[in-house]
Amino acid sequence: MRQSLGWAHISTGDMLRAHLAAGDELGKEIAAVMQSGGLVPDKTVNRMVEERIEAPDCREGFILDGFPRTVSQAVLLVGLLESRRIHAVVVHLKVDYNVIIRRLAGRRQCPTCGALYSATSNAPTVSEVCDYDGSKLIVRDDDRPDVVEQRLKAYEQQTAPVLAYLKQAGYAVEDVEGDNASPQVISRRIEKAMQEVRV
Ligand SMILES: [Zn+2]
Repeated sequence: MRQSLGWAHISTGDMLRAHLAAGDELGKEIAAVMQSGGLVPDKTVNRMVEERIEAPDCREGFILDGFPRTVSQAVLLVGLLESRRIHAVVVHLKVDYNVIIRRLAGRRQCPTCGALYSATSNAPTVSEVCDYDGSKLIVRDDDRPDVVEQRLKAYEQQTAPVLAYLKQAGYAVEDVEGDNASPQVISRRIEKAMQEVRV
């Protein structure tokens, strides 16, 4: 996607790690927050994004990946875009909950030695039995379908207000199916969605 459109790819997660590694002013601030067990505040993430989009490689366009995650971040982003007259398209990557739940439901753990198994990638030789000590495998509490479903719902609840805010602010929101497709297929779908709204 980045290659074909010639735009800078901005991942807030990568940027946080880069500032931490560089140990610059922002990096020290982030490290302090993380050491106290807190989440990096919106204000800090926002400042990072604002600095980043001023870089020369963003002049022709950029892709924000993993941002905005909260309404407060979205409000700032809209301000930044409007003051710079940047045209934006919102891509909402949709993932089928059932696919995720099915994948996690295939995970098993040995209660004796702790070995992890997956029905899809590393299944035990004998179904439901540990290869090392023959114990009967169990489903971990956090892999139980009801727990996974709850976590996915919490995420959706956080994302939905961001999408609603951006729609209300006048941005086109394109839904792209994420499901089981490869990253290349998803990239192509995103590109297509963006071309449709670019006209
Ligand atoms: Zn075992």
